[in-house]
Amino acid sequence: MQHITILGSTGSIGVSTLDVVARHPDRYRIFALTAQNRVEELAAQCERFHPEVAVVGSADAAQRLEALLRERKVTTAVAFGESALCAAVTADGCDTVMAAIVGGAGLAPTLAAACAGKKILLANKEALVMSGPLFMDAVTASGAVLMPIDSEHNAIFQCLPQHYTRTPTAHGIEKIMLTASGGPFLTRPLDTFDSVTCEEAVAHPKWVMGRKISVDSATMMNKGLEVIEAHYLFGMPASAIEVVIHPQSVVHSMVSYADGSVLAQLGNPDMRTPIAHALAYPERIASGVAPIDLVQIAQLTFVAPDMRRFPCLKLAYDALHAGGSAPAVLNAANEIAVQAFLDRRIGFRAVCDLIARVMDALPASPVDDIASVFELDRRARELAHTLIQS
Ligand code: NAD
Ligand code: MG
Repeated sequence: MQHITILGSTGSIGVSTLDVVARHPDRYRIFALTAQNRVEELAAQCERFHPEVAVVGSADAAQRLEALLRERKVTTAVAFGESALCAAVTADGCDTVMAAIVGGAGLAPTLAAACAGKKILLANKEALVMSGPLFMDAVTASGAVLMPIDSEHNAIFQCLPQHYTRTPTAHGIEKIMLTASGGPFLTRPLDTFDSVTCEEAVAHPKWVMGRKISVDSATMMNKGLEVIEAHYLFGMPASAIEVVIHPQSVVHSMVSYADGSVLAQLGNPDMRTPIAHALAYPERIASGVAPIDLVQIAQLTFVAPDMRRFPCLKLAYDALHAGGSAPAVLNAANEIAVQAFLDRRIGFRAVCDLIARVMDALPASPVDDIASVFELDRRARELAHTLIQS
């Protein structure tokens, strides 16, 4: 029996995780559920899964959740705030953590899980982008098990040799190919990008996801963050990470070997597949996802990304090459820019311009400890806010 804490259980990944867990009550039990402020949904989840603990973002949300749970006669204990999130992942009663909070807010609890040697199912790519080498060192030092949930990285994990050592050349690996759908604006005329609306940007053609990652997919910053994520997860140099646009989203990524073999993982675009894979690894369990019908799909196409259309992808490669603090600054600026776009305070094109300006103003510096990561994150966010207001 695995006892699971889900960080971000009311989100898109959280809900998909509970869907898979509910199919296997003999294998998985929920230890803790967490959400920022959607207490109605969280209360309903507690009623169904009976976790020991539920964590929310504020004292006010905690009060509202307690009232709802009392009404429903659910005995789950309620807590709030970052230290409660960390306690929910490091508790003895928890052995597996689904890290599915969106953005930098997930770093502290996800890192706490890494330091405590838990099995971590990592959806929260921003946490790894911010703290890459420090996070991977924490995993190694504690003996934590890190399983990628991002569909591309989960696909690559499935195509790597079983005892992969994070040194691609030692395994005859030449490169990895991350596939990208291209998002909603793959063919939209470039001269209309100024008039892109929030509704258009979050309407992803293939995946149903949270709003932040949907905008990231439209700018392709999501793929950029994934390039950095792949670098840290698999020890892959930037030069060996290629991005290929594949609008059907059937091939979730590929590994290319020295003998000319290319291994790929295919499936319907549904996050329950990587979630079920990571939960059960090395076994395989049902996820509720239907197998693909290749005859019906008929065509799989691949094209190179156009960096003029998707300048955020180039910024991410630049940040990876620069190293040190650059990926954390990139991530922080992106989070503020995307939120400002969603709040209709800046236009679609301004997202990338803002990130570039923050990166120019805060050039890469070495990062030795996690306190410096949080400090740089804070400074980059502050600067992004100032630039938006000016
Ligand atoms: P979402 O917006 O649907 O859900 C986010 C969850 O995090 C919610 O439960 C919310 O309550 C919680 N949360 C938000 N802000 C918080 C804060 N400040 N403190 C604590 N909790 C907070 O997002 P999502 O689409 O489920 O994505 C979650 C993560 O998974 C992201 O990092 C995303 O990049 C990654 N991911 C998602 C998908 C997908 O298909 N949705 C695919 C790959 C990777
Ligand atoms: Mg992905």
